[in-house]
Amino acid sequence: MKNTPELRTWLNDFNLEHPLVIAGPCSAETEEQVLKIAHELKNSDVSIFRAGIWKPRTRPGGFEGVGEIGLKWLKKAKEETGMLIATEVATANHVKLALEYDVDVLWIGARTTANPFAVQEIADALAGTDKIVLIKNPVNPDLALWLGGIERLYNADIKKLGVIHRGFSSYEKTKYRNIPEWQIPIELQNRFPDLPLICDPSHITGNRDMVQKVSQQALNLNYDGLIIETHIDPDNAWSDAAQQVTPDHLKNMFVHLKMRKKED
Ligand code: PEP
Ligand code: MN
Repeated sequence: MKNTPELRTWLNDFNLEHPLVIAGPCSAETEEQVLKIAHELKNSDVSIFRAGIWKPRTRPGGFEGVGEIGLKWLKKAKEETGMLIATEVATANHVKLALEYDVDVLWIGARTTANPFAVQEIADALAGTDKIVLIKNPVNPDLALWLGGIERLYNADIKKLGVIHRGFSSYEKTKYRNIPEWQIPIELQNRFPDLPLICDPSHITGNRDMVQKVSQQALNLNYDGLIIETHIDPDNAWSDAAQQVTPDHLKNMFVHLKMRKKED
């Protein structure tokens, strides 16, 4: 994979005075929930509205996402608020459906990045697309596997690429849900300075009280953006309740976060 400034060009469509902000619920739950959150985030620092439609859950039997109907709600959120929309894709069929509903940003989740067959299938389904494609780090602290996933997408001629750092799973008990292991994304950034790097403090911390601190750490390291889970009623969210913040909490965070601009 070449190191090319072309990789950064899609960021120019956003306000570069700010980090790129992606926010919205962990999961789309109901049409009303999706639209309420989207309207609260309209006219804020948020450029891209996220919601998971297909949810990779650790154990079976729980809420696994609303599926295709959620794409209709996301499309409506885009029409009503003007924000771009983002969702997670894990199979070629997810990609096909997301493209049918004109989803702007497709991200590959941490469990999927750990599976090269799945990433290749997604890359093939997206080949040549001009959609923005973001790839999270794999669940395990393996830079080569993350780079391999990026290469599969790059080789499929996907130009609007970026990466999301969401921390790494460990059996060790720490204050984090997923340990940041900052040296791994920093090494990635050193090797591919032109690849936009976004931090996911929600999945790193697993705890809404720590989200601002980790966001600031990422901005201090010159990350290009943040993806932050945001819900109107976080405690009653159907997934990842402990880490989601309210729209007001998110807006307040942006009053306090100190932005650091790229020195180029
Ligand atoms: C998510 O973004 O809700 C998600 C499932 O994240 P991850 O793939 O990082 O666990
Ligand atoms: Mn989540």
